[in-house]
Amino acid sequence: MYHSVSDGLHDPYRIAVSPHRLRRQLRWLRARGLRGVGVGELLRARAAGRGAGLVGLTFDDGYQDFLDEAVPLLLEHGCTATVFVLPGRLGGTNAWDPLGPRRPLLSEPAIRAAAGAGMEIGSHGLLHRDLITAGDAALREETARSRALLTAVTGGPVAGFCYPYGAVDARAARAVREAGYGYACAIDPGPLTGTYALPRVHIGEQDTGWRLLLKRHLHPLRRRALTARESMGAGR
Ligand SMILES: [Zn+2]
Repeated sequence: MYHSVSDGLHDPYRIAVSPHRLRRQLRWLRARGLRGVGVGELLRARAAGRGAGLVGLTFDDGYQDFLDEAVPLLLEHGCTATVFVLPGRLGGTNAWDPLGPRRPLLSEPAIRAAAGAGMEIGSHGLLHRDLITAGDAALREETARSRALLTAVTGGPVAGFCYPYGAVDARAARAVREAGYGYACAIDPGPLTGTYALPRVHIGEQDTGWRLLLKRHLHPLRRRALTARESMGAGR
């Protein structure tokens, strides 16, 4: 789970990886016979028994630097990824993060350019609202409406969804499924783990080779972990 690929900016939410670090991480994957792909491709490959050696790569929020920095590095290493964008904030900024810094988000043409480069485009909701606390109308907007808007932007079906803040409960997962998505990414979904709540590992600037090795081997164990907030969410 990546977010922004940039350096130089103050980073209070630890969402940025520098282009230099991403290059090192992709090289690390390839040196181990692993290849980064979008989550849709990963799930199709696994269903067909061809998933060995594939690692799902995701970039949340849809920052402009995904197209400018990440895509060239991904292609250079023979990899693809899923970028989860916010169709209610196209060409805007990450205004939902109170601390900033403001980072520009992909515009409509930039999303099409990323898709044209072979990247999977998924929805991160409409406006980046927490789906656990969202009312029924907001929940439909974040799931069904964002999918309809994104389908119009990309001109094709949108299979993937990613919960803002990783916040998922049974009601949110049901709304995502009913909106027609084929899968959804979470972070630590605990007992909800499944196709509509896929666990992911945060990858940051500090993740050099030995930390990646550790994260790779701890990931299957972390799937059982459940934080207090997620247990609350799961109980609603
Ligand atoms: Zn996000």
